[in-house]
Amino acid sequence: MSSMPPPSDEPILPPFATPTTRHEATILLAERPELYVVNGGTDAMVGVNDGRTNVAGWLSLRRVAELGRIVADEHSLVLGAGITFAEIEALLADSVPSLAAAARTVGSPQIRRAGTLGGNLATASPAADAVPPLLCCDAHVELASCDGVRRVPLEEFATGPKRTVRRPDELITAVHLHALGGFDAFAKVGTRNAMVISVCSIAARLDPASGVARVAIGSAAPTVRRVHDAEPALLDPGAADAFAAEVVRGASPIDDARASATYRRHALGVLARRTHARLWRTAGEVAA
Ligand SMILES: Cc1cc2nc3c(=O)[nH]c(=O)nc-3n(C[C@H](O)[C@H](O)[C@H](O)COP(=O)(O)OP(=O)(O)OC[C@H]3O[C@@H](n4cnc5c(N)ncnc54)[C@H](O)[C@@H]3O)c2cc1C
Repeated sequence: MSSMPPPSDEPILPPFATPTTRHEATILLAERPELYVVNGGTDAMVGVNDGRTNVAGWLSLRRVAELGRIVADEHSLVLGAGITFAEIEALLADSVPSLAAAARTVGSPQIRRAGTLGGNLATASPAADAVPPLLCCDAHVELASCDGVRRVPLEEFATGPKRTVRRPDELITAVHLHALGGFDAFAKVGTRNAMVISVCSIAARLDPASGVARVAIGSAAPTVRRVHDAEPALLDPGAADAFAAEVVRGASPIDDARASATYRRHALGVLARRTHARLWRTAGEVAA
């Protein structure tokens, strides 16, 4: 005789869809727009646990193997949205050192093994650590839906804190980077040395031979932003102070629990001067 299972105190979990292909994932999202997209869950679960996020059902991207790929050729690098910070650290240290360095500063080893590139972009946090290095690579965000695929310049992707141009039926599927050459660097100031969201951050790229200069700042404005006006001074080895002044002028930080706007401006200036010196030192060592 069969017996009924004993009553359980476990909460009933909302439905959990686990597509294994990108195609299947976009169809599911079109058919069931109420599903909450999740990958590593490192950001999503914070909202669920403190009651801010109500979830009617999950669409997990964890098993979509295509999103975990990195494809490189001579001119470009395509990073799947599902690659984790741990993978970025391990696999991109030679090709995009600034991105690997940024990944190394994210959360704890557990967060880095679960948290993904796509999740970092989707949150549109002004403190998202992957974004400054990617802005310095002229990155484009690939968005896919049942209607097709489009690419948006990363500089136009976030429109404000937690706001992006992504439509609800679109998934972030990849990030496309140009091979710009030269040297890059990332630096971050936090309230302690590890497990910390940035007080401010900077990434920069310099290629004196081809005249490429890029700089982007994090936690210093409503979105991570590139500071175009500072870039000419990055090309001048004697202009560290002018570079720092322009970087600070390009910021619009706020006072919050992590730091005051005044401290953020000061710290950005220090980071900018150090980054300028570091990139020119590297350029000199390589030329010697
Ligand atoms: C303790 C702790 C420390 C942290 N430290 C840092 C830090 O130092 N630096 C930093 O930048 N971040 C940090 N974070 C934030 C978080 O880990 C990152 O933003 C991470 O990249 C999120 O990725 P995920 O895959 O976990 O996203 P999830 O939590 O799965 O999703 C986050 C958001 O992105 C959306 N989303 C995810 N993937 C996609 C996709 N492919 N397409 C469309 N939407 C998508 C989800 O719907 C959700 O709104 C920290 C978080 C915690 C909990």
